[in-house]
Amino acid sequence: MQNIVLFKILGFSELYTEGESPVHRLYRIKSLARRCKRCQLHTTRTQTVFGFGNIASRVMVIGEAPGANEDLYGKPFIGKAGERFTSILREYGIERDRDFYITNVVKCRPPKNRDPRPEEIEACKPYLIVQIEIIRPLLFLALGRYSATWLLGSRQNVQMKEIRGKILISRFDVPMIATYHPSAIDHARSHAQRDFYEKAFREDLRLFAEKIKELQKNLL
Ligand code: SF4
Repeated sequence: MQNIVLFKILGFSELYTEGESPVHRLYRIKSLARRCKRCQLHTTRTQTVFGFGNIASRVMVIGEAPGANEDLYGKPFIGKAGERFTSILREYGIERDRDFYITNVVKCRPPKNRDPRPEEIEACKPYLIVQIEIIRPLLFLALGRYSATWLLGSRQNVQMKEIRGKILISRFDVPMIATYHPSAIDHARSHAQRDFYEKAFREDLRLFAEKIKELQKNLL
């Protein structure tokens, strides 16, 4: 998918060592990310939140950025929104640490949980590309519009209501599903909006769970 030429162009050739095993490479770049200063988010983070899960699952979930709990404990999607995500998937028979690998488009928490900026997403992109190259996903789930925009390779921020609930094709020619970030439910401005987000989120996760199970059958 990617190669040393691309990483040299990105000014990030140290992410790529020829002949290295995927597992070793993932650990090595994780330790590079730990001391990364490629964007301003390094000044306010407690620690980088690189990613977690089963790298052999061939399924990848990509969120937007770590929040307060993630920044504190170093693991993605462990706050209130992450717990909601995990428990809904469990209802559909999917376990996060077994059935997919999860990460974010930026690995450090933006101050006060603001949205990640384009230059931060761009600076952090090489880590995500290496993760994708190692995991070789056959299915993506994008949580939130920044992740969906990036995975679709769109120049404009996508409108989630227009793309959710169906199978899309990502910039990597791999199927993807996009849905609202789970924190959207907590930040809803009314009961009606909260109900709308929750219903949509559940429908999209059910579709994601079905696709994971199909994929697992095909990989047997
Ligand atoms: S967000 Fe990414 S690019 Fe920015 S400092 Fe953290 S690891 Fe480096």
